[in-house]
Amino acid sequence: MRTVALAAFAAGFLAAAASPARAAVGVLTTTEGLAAVVREVGGDRVKVSALSRGIQDPHFVDANPSLAVKLRNADLLVDVGMDLEIGWLPPLVTQSRNGAIQPGGARRLTAGNFVSPMDLPTGPVDRSQGDIHPSGNPHFLSDPRRAVQVAAAVAGRLSEIDPENASYYRERLQAFQAKVAAAEKGWKAQLAPFAGRSVITQHKTLTYLLDWSGLKAAGYMEPKQGVAPPPSHVASLAALVKAAGVKGVLVENYYDRRPAEQLRDLSGVKVVVIPGDVGGTREASDWFGFVDVLVKSLVQAVQ
Ligand SMILES: [Zn+2]
Repeated sequence: MRTVALAAFAAGFLAAAASPARAAVGVLTTTEGLAAVVREVGGDRVKVSALSRGIQDPHFVDANPSLAVKLRNADLLVDVGMDLEIGWLPPLVTQSRNGAIQPGGARRLTAGNFVSPMDLPTGPVDRSQGDIHPSGNPHFLSDPRRAVQVAAAVAGRLSEIDPENASYYRERLQAFQAKVAAAEKGWKAQLAPFAGRSVITQHKTLTYLLDWSGLKAAGYMEPKQGVAPPPSHVASLAALVKAAGVKGVLVENYYDRRPAEQLRDLSGVKVVVIPGDVGGTREASDWFGFVDVLVKSLVQAVQ
């Protein structure tokens, strides 16, 4: 009798110890896109929130001191890197006085360190030329190939912080990879008829996605990255639209779309407004929804 009771007690104790009663890992990300990828991998074992909104330009986020307070208690900070957040994140991280989330810290994951960069500048870098992505193009998360690489890095780091749930994170990562592979087939099928066609984009936000899709950028509304288009540049783009047979210009919804509309008036090009990140529109409510909208927008812009 006594042995049975003891065994039952021990079993109950072990079950309690193994249950996920402990607090979820508190993850902060700089963007909603990163938060969406962390959610895919972390499931219900993480509590994720983003420091910026998908409707905001991620280069210019207000470094509100309340964000430093949030960072103070973060178990993990995931940032994009490649200098995307250079204008607002470093002072917040310093103010947070959370030693582990400083650059290179055990609880800091810079996604850009896990993907191969495009648009690396070759000559000397001069910031007076505008926001020219001096460490490479940081807008990589809409590229399915790189999103999977970031997800793997997130799974690895979550497993280090929360080793009890390592197999859970591994399984979630595998499920995400499989779901991305299946989604890619559908997206590629939508884009295949238009391979080789060109679009104009506002900023170099779609460089990786265009590379993945087989489409091209014929030009950019911004004459230099981060610089608003002057009328002379719009006029030269109008000539380019006619010469290259460009059908559409894509503009993130946080940019002033008037220059693109001027280009439309001059050249007849279509203006397609897109979300800049997950959360940028209602349909872009998670990473898959975001890429879905972008693929549909590309299809709309090339025909
Ligand atoms: Zn940028």
